[in-house]
Amino acid sequence: MRSVSILATGSELLDGRVVDTNSNFVAKELAERGLKLKRVLVVDDDMGELVQGLRELSTVSDFIITSGGLGPTSDDLTRDMVAAFFGVGLAEHPDALAHLESFFAKRGRVLDSQNRKQALLPVGASMVPNANGTAPGFAMTKDGGPTVVSLSGVPREFKPMFLDTVLPMIEASSGGIEPIQRATMKTFGLPESTVGRLIEGLKLPKEIVVSYRAAFPEVHLVLKAPKSFDLSAYVVSARDALQNDTIFSEDPAETFLISLQKLLLSKGLTVATAESCTGGMVSELLTRTPGSSAVFQGGIVAYSNEIKERIVGVSRETLDTTGAVSAETVRELAKNVREKFKTSIGISISGVSGPDGGTNAKPVGTFYVGISSEARSFEMKCLYVSERQNVRSYASYVALDLVRRAVLGLPLPEAYPIFR
Ligand code: ATP
Ligand code: MG
Repeated sequence: MRSVSILATGSELLDGRVVDTNSNFVAKELAERGLKLKRVLVVDDDMGELVQGLRELSTVSDFIITSGGLGPTSDDLTRDMVAAFFGVGLAEHPDALAHLESFFAKRGRVLDSQNRKQALLPVGASMVPNANGTAPGFAMTKDGGPTVVSLSGVPREFKPMFLDTVLPMIEASSGGIEPIQRATMKTFGLPESTVGRLIEGLKLPKEIVVSYRAAFPEVHLVLKAPKSFDLSAYVVSARDALQNDTIFSEDPAETFLISLQKLLLSKGLTVATAESCTGGMVSELLTRTPGSSAVFQGGIVAYSNEIKERIVGVSRETLDTTGAVSAETVRELAKNVREKFKTSIGISISGVSGPDGGTNAKPVGTFYVGISSEARSFEMKCLYVSERQNVRSYASYVALDLVRRAVLGLPLPEAYPIFR
Protein backbone atom coordinates (compact mmCIF):
# COMPACT_ATOMS: atom_id res chain seq x y z
CA MET A 1 0.00 0.00 0.00
CA ARG A 2 1.35 3.42 -0.95
CA SER A 3 1.60 5.92 1.87
CA VAL A 4 0.09 9.36 1.54
CA SER A 5 0.95 12.44 3.60
CA ILE A 6 -0.13 16.06 3.59
CA LEU A 7 1.89 19.21 3.92
CA ALA A 8 -0.60 21.93 4.77
CA THR A 9 1.01 25.33 4.35
CA GLY A 10 0.04 28.75 5.59
CA SER A 11 0.62 30.86 8.65
CA GLU A 12 -3.17 31.26 8.98
CA LEU A 13 -3.31 27.56 9.92
CA LEU A 14 -0.81 28.06 12.72
CA ASP A 15 -2.24 31.17 14.33
CA GLY A 16 -5.78 29.89 14.66
CA ARG A 17 -7.39 31.93 11.90
CA VAL A 18 -8.18 28.97 9.64
CA VAL A 19 -8.86 25.34 10.48
CA ASP A 20 -7.07 22.81 8.28
CA THR A 21 -10.18 21.26 6.76
CA ASN A 22 -8.32 20.17 3.62
CA SER A 23 -6.37 17.50 5.52
CA ASN A 24 -9.55 16.37 7.19
CA PHE A 25 -11.22 16.08 3.81
CA VAL A 26 -8.38 13.99 2.38
CA ALA A 27 -8.30 11.79 5.48
CA LYS A 28 -12.01 11.05 5.12
CA GLU A 29 -11.83 10.36 1.40
CA LEU A 30 -8.89 8.00 1.86
CA ALA A 31 -10.54 6.26 4.79
CA GLU A 32 -13.63 5.65 2.69
CA ARG A 33 -11.36 3.71 0.36
CA GLY A 34 -9.60 1.78 3.04
CA LEU A 35 -6.48 4.01 2.97
CA LYS A 36 -5.01 5.94 5.82
CA LEU A 37 -3.00 9.11 5.89
CA LYS A 38 0.55 8.60 7.09
CA ARG A 39 1.27 12.14 8.32
CA VAL A 40 -0.24 15.58 8.37
CA LEU A 41 2.28 18.35 8.76
CA VAL A 42 1.29 21.98 9.04
CA VAL A 43 4.02 24.52 8.31
CA ASP A 44 4.45 28.26 8.10
CA ASP A 45 4.93 30.22 4.86
CA ASP A 46 8.70 30.15 5.27
CA MET A 47 11.00 28.71 2.64
CA GLY A 48 13.26 26.89 5.09
CA GLU A 49 10.35 25.37 7.01
CA LEU A 50 8.57 24.35 3.83
CA VAL A 51 11.49 22.52 2.26
CA GLN A 52 12.39 20.87 5.56
CA GLY A 53 8.76 19.76 5.88
CA LEU A 54 8.85 18.15 2.46
CA ARG A 55 12.12 16.38 3.32
CA GLU A 56 10.67 15.00 6.54
CA LEU A 57 7.58 13.70 4.85
CA SER A 58 9.55 12.24 1.94
CA THR A 59 11.22 9.73 4.27
CA VAL A 60 7.89 8.08 5.06
CA SER A 61 5.62 8.89 2.11
CA ASP A 62 5.17 7.83 -1.49
CA PHE A 63 2.73 10.68 -2.08
CA ILE A 64 2.90 14.11 -0.55
CA ILE A 65 -0.02 16.41 -1.14
CA THR A 66 0.70 20.06 -0.46
CA SER A 67 -2.12 22.49 0.21
CA GLY A 68 -1.91 26.25 -0.33
CA GLY A 69 0.66 28.77 -1.41
CA LEU A 70 -0.09 28.61 -5.12
CA GLY A 71 -1.35 32.14 -5.49
CA PRO A 72 0.41 35.07 -7.14
CA THR A 73 1.59 36.93 -4.05
CA SER A 74 4.98 36.98 -2.34
CA ASP A 75 3.81 34.70 0.49
CA ASP A 76 2.89 31.99 -2.02
CA LEU A 77 6.03 29.89 -1.94
CA THR A 78 4.91 26.44 -2.99
CA ARG A 79 6.34 26.53 -6.52
CA ASP A 80 9.75 27.55 -5.16
CA MET A 81 9.56 25.03 -2.35
CA VAL A 82 8.96 22.10 -4.68
CA ALA A 83 11.60 23.29 -7.13
CA ALA A 84 14.12 23.58 -4.28
CA PHE A 85 13.17 20.17 -2.96
CA PHE A 86 13.77 18.52 -6.33
CA GLY A 87 16.77 20.73 -7.09
CA VAL A 88 15.32 22.17 -10.29
CA GLY A 89 14.39 25.62 -11.56
CA LEU A 90 11.04 27.08 -12.56
CA ALA A 91 9.82 27.46 -16.11
CA GLU A 92 6.62 28.66 -17.67
CA HIS A 93 4.49 25.61 -18.35
CA PRO A 94 2.44 25.73 -21.56
CA ASP A 95 -0.60 23.92 -20.05
CA ALA A 96 -0.54 26.18 -17.02
CA LEU A 97 -0.29 29.28 -19.18
CA ALA A 98 -3.16 28.10 -21.38
CA HIS A 99 -5.27 27.48 -18.26
CA LEU A 100 -4.58 30.97 -16.92
CA GLU A 101 -5.24 32.64 -20.25
CA SER A 102 -8.55 30.91 -20.69
CA PHE A 103 -9.53 31.53 -17.03
CA PHE A 104 -8.97 35.25 -17.48
CA ALA A 105 -10.48 35.41 -20.98
CA LYS A 106 -13.70 33.78 -19.74
CA ARG A 107 -14.00 36.60 -17.22
CA GLY A 108 -13.20 39.27 -19.77
CA ARG A 109 -9.84 40.03 -18.20
CA VAL A 110 -6.33 40.10 -19.55
CA LEU A 111 -3.67 38.01 -17.87
CA ASP A 112 -1.26 40.41 -16.19
CA SER A 113 2.36 39.69 -15.29
CA GLN A 114 1.53 39.20 -11.59
CA ASN A 115 -0.95 36.45 -12.35
CA ARG A 116 1.19 35.03 -15.12
CA LYS A 117 3.66 33.97 -12.41
CA GLN A 118 1.25 31.18 -11.62
CA ALA A 119 2.19 29.50 -14.90
CA LEU A 120 5.71 28.94 -13.56
CA LEU A 121 6.06 25.33 -12.49
CA PRO A 122 9.10 23.36 -11.36
CA VAL A 123 10.88 21.96 -14.41
CA GLY A 124 9.62 18.44 -15.00
CA ALA A 125 6.25 18.94 -13.27
CA SER A 126 2.93 18.22 -14.95
CA MET A 127 -0.08 20.44 -14.43
CA VAL A 128 -3.01 19.50 -12.21
CA PRO A 129 -6.10 21.29 -13.53
CA ASN A 130 -7.94 23.69 -11.25
CA ALA A 131 -11.44 24.20 -12.63
CA ASN A 132 -12.49 26.63 -9.89
CA GLY A 133 -9.61 29.05 -9.56
CA THR A 134 -6.69 30.75 -11.19
CA ALA A 135 -3.75 28.86 -9.79
CA PRO A 136 -3.10 25.56 -11.53
CA GLY A 137 -1.72 22.75 -9.40
CA PHE A 138 1.11 20.47 -10.38
CA ALA A 139 2.60 17.06 -9.74
CA MET A 140 6.22 16.08 -9.82
CA THR A 141 8.44 13.12 -9.10
CA LYS A 142 12.11 12.41 -9.69
CA ASP A 143 14.52 9.49 -9.45
CA GLY A 144 12.10 7.09 -7.79
CA GLY A 145 11.43 9.53 -4.93
CA PRO A 146 8.01 10.50 -3.69
CA THR A 147 5.44 12.16 -5.89
CA VAL A 148 4.67 15.67 -4.71
CA VAL A 149 1.29 17.05 -5.74
CA SER A 150 0.63 20.71 -5.03
CA LEU A 151 -2.96 21.92 -4.82
CA SER A 152 -4.63 25.22 -4.12
CA GLY A 153 -5.41 25.87 -0.46
CA VAL A 154 -8.90 27.19 -1.11
CA PRO A 155 -11.17 24.29 -0.10
CA ARG A 156 -13.56 24.85 -3.00
CA GLU A 157 -10.60 24.40 -5.35
CA PHE A 158 -8.66 21.85 -3.32
CA LYS A 159 -11.46 19.29 -3.08
CA PRO A 160 -12.20 18.80 -6.79
CA MET A 161 -8.49 18.87 -7.61
CA PHE A 162 -7.94 16.09 -5.10
CA LEU A 163 -10.91 14.01 -6.21
CA ASP A 164 -10.47 14.44 -9.96
CA THR A 165 -6.71 14.16 -10.31
CA VAL A 166 -4.90 13.08 -7.16
CA LEU A 167 -7.14 10.26 -6.04
CA PRO A 168 -6.96 8.50 -9.43
CA MET A 169 -3.16 8.85 -9.31
CA ILE A 170 -3.03 7.26 -5.87
CA GLU A 171 -5.44 4.54 -6.88
CA ALA A 172 -3.51 3.75 -10.06
CA SER A 173 -0.20 3.53 -8.25
CA SER A 174 -1.64 1.31 -5.53
CA GLY A 175 -2.44 -1.24 -8.21
CA GLY A 176 -6.06 -0.23 -7.79
CA ILE A 177 -7.73 -0.05 -4.44
CA GLU A 178 -10.38 -2.67 -4.08
CA PRO A 179 -13.61 -0.82 -4.73
CA ILE A 180 -15.92 -0.44 -1.79
CA GLN A 181 -19.70 -0.52 -1.67
CA ARG A 182 -21.64 1.04 1.12
CA ALA A 183 -25.15 1.00 2.41
CA THR A 184 -26.34 3.97 4.43
CA MET A 185 -29.28 3.99 6.82
CA LYS A 186 -30.29 7.25 8.43
CA THR A 187 -32.43 6.78 11.46
CA PHE A 188 -34.38 8.86 13.89
CA GLY A 189 -36.00 7.67 17.08
CA LEU A 190 -33.44 5.23 18.46
CA PRO A 191 -30.50 6.22 20.65
CA GLU A 192 -27.07 5.53 19.15
CA SER A 193 -26.41 2.87 21.77
CA THR A 194 -29.54 1.00 20.75
CA VAL A 195 -28.65 1.18 17.08
CA GLY A 196 -25.24 -0.21 18.03
CA ARG A 197 -26.70 -3.02 20.10
CA LEU A 198 -29.20 -4.03 17.42
CA ILE A 199 -26.56 -4.10 14.70
CA GLU A 200 -23.99 -5.89 16.84
CA GLY A 201 -26.65 -8.50 17.54
CA LEU A 202 -26.60 -9.40 13.85
CA LYS A 203 -23.04 -10.72 14.12
CA LEU A 204 -22.17 -9.41 10.68
CA PRO A 205 -19.28 -11.10 8.88
CA LYS A 206 -15.85 -9.51 9.13
CA GLU A 207 -15.92 -8.28 5.52
CA ILE A 208 -18.46 -5.69 6.62
CA VAL A 209 -17.14 -2.61 8.38
CA VAL A 210 -19.84 -0.90 10.40
CA SER A 211 -19.69 2.77 11.29
CA TYR A 212 -22.09 4.90 13.28
CA ARG A 213 -22.48 8.61 13.26
CA ALA A 214 -24.63 10.53 15.68
CA ALA A 215 -25.64 13.70 13.86
CA PHE A 216 -27.94 14.96 16.60
CA PRO A 217 -30.73 14.12 16.65
CA GLU A 218 -30.22 11.60 13.86
CA VAL A 219 -28.15 8.44 13.99
CA HIS A 220 -26.57 7.25 10.77
CA LEU A 221 -25.34 3.76 10.10
CA VAL A 222 -23.02 2.81 7.25
CA LEU A 223 -22.16 -0.74 6.24
CA LYS A 224 -19.08 -0.97 4.05
CA ALA A 225 -17.77 -4.00 2.22
CA PRO A 226 -15.63 -4.83 -0.80
CA LYS A 227 -17.59 -4.58 -4.06
CA SER A 228 -17.10 -8.29 -4.66
CA PHE A 229 -18.98 -9.12 -1.45
CA ASP A 230 -22.74 -9.73 -1.54
CA LEU A 231 -24.02 -7.17 0.94
CA SER A 232 -27.72 -7.23 0.06
CA ALA A 233 -28.91 -9.85 2.55
CA TYR A 234 -27.15 -8.05 5.38
CA VAL A 235 -28.71 -4.76 4.42
CA VAL A 236 -32.11 -6.41 4.72
CA SER A 237 -31.31 -7.80 8.15
CA ALA A 238 -29.92 -4.44 9.30
CA ARG A 239 -33.13 -2.74 8.18
CA ASP A 240 -35.17 -5.30 10.07
CA ALA A 241 -33.04 -4.91 13.16
CA LEU A 242 -33.68 -1.16 13.04
CA GLN A 243 -37.40 -1.89 12.80
CA ASN A 244 -37.42 -0.44 9.26
CA ASP A 245 -39.64 2.47 10.19
CA THR A 246 -36.91 4.28 12.13
CA ILE A 247 -35.03 4.65 8.81
CA PHE A 248 -36.07 7.86 7.12
CA SER A 249 -33.57 7.71 4.26
CA GLU A 250 -30.96 5.47 2.70
CA ASP A 251 -29.53 8.21 0.54
CA PRO A 252 -26.18 9.43 1.91
CA ALA A 253 -26.83 12.92 0.55
CA GLU A 254 -30.38 13.29 1.81
CA THR A 255 -31.14 15.06 5.06
CA PHE A 256 -34.14 14.35 7.25
CA LEU A 257 -35.68 17.64 6.19
CA ILE A 258 -35.21 17.01 2.49
CA SER A 259 -36.64 13.52 2.74
CA LEU A 260 -39.68 14.82 4.61
CA GLN A 261 -40.22 17.62 2.12
CA LYS A 262 -39.98 15.15 -0.77
CA LEU A 263 -42.52 12.92 0.93
CA LEU A 264 -44.99 15.75 1.49
CA LEU A 265 -44.50 17.06 -2.04
CA SER A 266 -45.02 13.63 -3.55
CA LYS A 267 -48.37 13.38 -1.78
CA GLY A 268 -49.31 16.99 -2.47
CA LEU A 269 -49.68 17.71 1.25
CA THR A 270 -49.39 21.08 2.97
CA VAL A 271 -48.62 21.84 6.60
CA ALA A 272 -49.13 24.58 9.17
CA THR A 273 -47.75 24.85 12.68
CA ALA A 274 -48.83 26.09 16.08
CA GLU A 275 -45.81 26.05 18.33
CA SER A 276 -45.33 26.92 21.92
CA CYS A 277 -42.10 25.76 23.55
CA THR A 278 -40.23 25.44 20.24
CA GLY A 279 -40.87 29.09 19.42
CA GLY A 280 -41.09 28.55 15.67
CA MET A 281 -38.34 26.00 15.29
CA VAL A 282 -40.56 23.55 13.46
CA SER A 283 -41.43 26.28 10.99
CA GLU A 284 -37.75 27.13 10.69
CA LEU A 285 -36.87 23.51 9.94
CA LEU A 286 -39.66 23.23 7.41
CA THR A 287 -38.44 26.31 5.55
CA ARG A 288 -34.76 25.39 5.42
CA THR A 289 -35.07 23.42 2.22
CA PRO A 290 -35.48 25.24 -1.09
CA GLY A 291 -38.94 24.61 -2.49
CA SER A 292 -40.54 24.59 0.96
CA SER A 293 -43.27 27.02 -0.08
CA ALA A 294 -45.09 24.22 -1.86
CA VAL A 295 -45.44 22.46 1.48
CA PHE A 296 -45.30 24.93 4.34
CA GLN A 297 -48.12 27.45 4.49
CA GLY A 298 -47.36 29.22 7.75
CA GLY A 299 -47.39 28.98 11.48
CA ILE A 300 -48.27 30.66 14.72
CA VAL A 301 -45.93 30.90 17.65
CA ALA A 302 -48.54 30.55 20.36
CA TYR A 303 -46.26 31.03 23.31
CA SER A 304 -48.58 32.53 25.89
CA ASN A 305 -51.87 31.02 26.96
CA GLU A 306 -53.58 34.15 25.84
CA ILE A 307 -52.38 33.67 22.27
CA LYS A 308 -53.22 29.99 22.39
CA GLU A 309 -56.74 30.98 23.32
CA ARG A 310 -57.36 34.23 21.47
CA ILE A 311 -55.47 33.56 18.23
CA VAL A 312 -55.48 29.79 17.86
CA GLY A 313 -58.78 29.19 19.64
CA VAL A 314 -57.78 26.75 22.35
CA SER A 315 -60.67 26.74 24.81
CA ARG A 316 -60.30 28.48 28.10
CA GLU A 317 -61.62 25.39 29.79
CA THR A 318 -58.88 23.20 28.29
CA LEU A 319 -56.17 25.61 29.37
CA ASP A 320 -57.67 25.89 32.87
CA THR A 321 -58.29 22.22 33.46
CA THR A 322 -55.49 20.37 31.68
CA GLY A 323 -52.93 23.15 31.32
CA ALA A 324 -51.02 24.38 28.29
CA VAL A 325 -48.71 21.36 28.29
CA SER A 326 -51.29 18.68 27.65
CA ALA A 327 -52.69 16.36 25.02
CA GLU A 328 -55.92 18.35 24.95
CA THR A 329 -54.12 21.63 24.25
CA VAL A 330 -51.96 20.29 21.42
CA ARG A 331 -55.02 18.53 19.96
CA GLU A 332 -56.89 21.84 19.76
CA LEU A 333 -53.81 23.73 18.54
CA ALA A 334 -53.17 21.26 15.71
CA LYS A 335 -56.80 21.03 14.68
CA ASN A 336 -57.41 24.77 14.79
CA VAL A 337 -54.24 25.79 12.97
CA ARG A 338 -54.98 23.26 10.28
CA GLU A 339 -58.46 24.73 9.84
CA LYS A 340 -57.26 28.33 9.96
CA PHE A 341 -54.51 27.77 7.42
CA LYS A 342 -56.56 25.30 5.35
CA THR A 343 -53.70 22.82 5.16
CA SER A 344 -53.66 19.04 4.89
CA ILE A 345 -51.80 18.75 8.18
CA GLY A 346 -51.65 20.77 11.38
CA ILE A 347 -48.65 20.33 13.69
CA SER A 348 -48.49 21.54 17.28
CA ILE A 349 -46.07 21.40 20.16
CA SER A 350 -46.32 22.46 23.75
CA GLY A 351 -43.84 21.56 26.44
CA VAL A 352 -41.51 22.43 29.27
CA SER A 353 -38.08 23.29 27.84
CA GLY A 354 -36.56 24.18 31.18
CA PRO A 355 -34.51 24.79 33.09
CA ASP A 356 -37.45 25.96 35.24
CA GLY A 357 -41.12 25.19 35.11
CA GLY A 358 -41.04 21.45 35.64
CA THR A 359 -43.42 19.66 37.99
CA ASN A 360 -43.56 16.07 39.23
CA ALA A 361 -46.22 15.22 36.71
CA LYS A 362 -44.57 17.19 33.91
CA PRO A 363 -40.83 17.40 34.53
CA VAL A 364 -38.51 19.56 32.41
CA GLY A 365 -38.25 17.96 29.00
CA THR A 366 -41.90 16.95 28.83
CA PHE A 367 -43.59 17.91 25.61
CA TYR A 368 -46.71 17.04 23.70
CA VAL A 369 -46.97 16.92 19.93
CA GLY A 370 -50.29 17.11 18.15
CA ILE A 371 -50.87 16.06 14.57
CA SER A 372 -54.12 16.80 12.84
CA SER A 373 -54.84 15.48 9.38
CA GLU A 374 -57.76 14.11 7.48
CA ALA A 375 -56.58 10.52 7.69
CA ARG A 376 -55.16 10.53 11.15
CA SER A 377 -55.09 12.80 14.17
CA PHE A 378 -53.27 12.01 17.37
CA GLU A 379 -51.23 13.40 20.22
CA MET A 380 -48.09 12.02 21.75
CA LYS A 381 -46.53 12.75 25.10
CA CYS A 382 -42.72 12.64 25.18
CA LEU A 383 -39.91 13.29 27.58
CA TYR A 384 -36.41 14.30 26.58
CA VAL A 385 -34.01 14.88 29.43
CA SER A 386 -31.45 17.41 28.34
CA GLU A 387 -30.70 21.09 28.41
CA ARG A 388 -33.13 23.63 27.03
CA GLN A 389 -31.85 23.92 23.45
CA ASN A 390 -31.63 20.18 22.97
CA VAL A 391 -35.13 19.66 24.32
CA ARG A 392 -36.46 22.20 21.85
CA SER A 393 -34.54 20.75 18.87
CA TYR A 394 -35.49 17.24 19.78
CA ALA A 395 -39.15 18.13 20.21
CA SER A 396 -39.15 19.80 16.79
CA TYR A 397 -37.70 16.71 15.17
CA VAL A 398 -40.18 14.46 16.96
CA ALA A 399 -43.00 16.57 15.57
CA LEU A 400 -41.64 16.18 12.06
CA ASP A 401 -41.04 12.48 12.53
CA LEU A 402 -44.65 12.12 13.62
CA VAL A 403 -45.69 13.91 10.43
CA ARG A 404 -43.62 11.38 8.48
CA ARG A 405 -45.26 8.52 10.34
CA ALA A 406 -48.73 9.96 9.89
CA VAL A 407 -48.24 10.38 6.15
CA LEU A 408 -46.68 6.96 5.60
CA GLY A 409 -49.23 5.21 7.83
CA LEU A 410 -46.47 3.94 10.12
CA PRO A 411 -47.13 2.95 13.71
CA LEU A 412 -46.25 5.45 16.40
CA PRO A 413 -43.27 4.44 18.51
CA GLU A 414 -44.10 3.50 22.06
CA ALA A 415 -41.74 6.22 23.12
CA TYR A 416 -38.94 8.31 21.68
CA PRO A 417 -35.60 8.11 23.48
CA ILE A 418 -35.45 10.18 26.63
CA PHE A 419 -31.77 11.02 26.13
CA ARG A 420 -29.06 10.59 23.53
P1 ATP B 1 -4.78 31.65 -3.57
O1 ATP B 1 -4.61 31.52 -5.03
O2 ATP B 1 -6.17 32.07 -3.18
O3 ATP B 1 -3.71 32.47 -2.88
P2 ATP B 1 -3.44 29.39 -2.47
O4 ATP B 1 -3.30 28.06 -3.11
O5 ATP B 1 -2.25 30.27 -2.48
O6 ATP B 1 -4.67 30.13 -3.05
P3 ATP B 1 -3.57 29.94 0.29
O7 ATP B 1 -3.28 31.36 -0.04
O8 ATP B 1 -2.58 29.19 1.10
O9 ATP B 1 -3.88 29.11 -1.01
O10 ATP B 1 -4.97 29.82 0.97
C1 ATP B 1 -6.11 30.46 0.44
C2 ATP B 1 -7.23 30.37 1.45
O11 ATP B 1 -7.66 29.02 1.52
C3 ATP B 1 -6.82 30.71 2.87
O12 ATP B 1 -7.04 32.04 3.20
C4 ATP B 1 -7.68 29.85 3.71
O13 ATP B 1 -8.89 30.50 3.98
C5 ATP B 1 -7.94 28.65 2.86
N1 ATP B 1 -7.07 27.54 3.23
C6 ATP B 1 -5.75 27.42 3.02
N2 ATP B 1 -5.30 26.25 3.48
C7 ATP B 1 -6.35 25.60 4.01
C8 ATP B 1 -6.53 24.34 4.64
N3 ATP B 1 -5.52 23.49 4.81
N4 ATP B 1 -7.77 24.01 5.07
C9 ATP B 1 -8.79 24.88 4.88
N5 ATP B 1 -8.70 26.07 4.29
C10 ATP B 1 -7.48 26.45 3.86
MG1 MG C 1 -2.33 32.31 -1.46
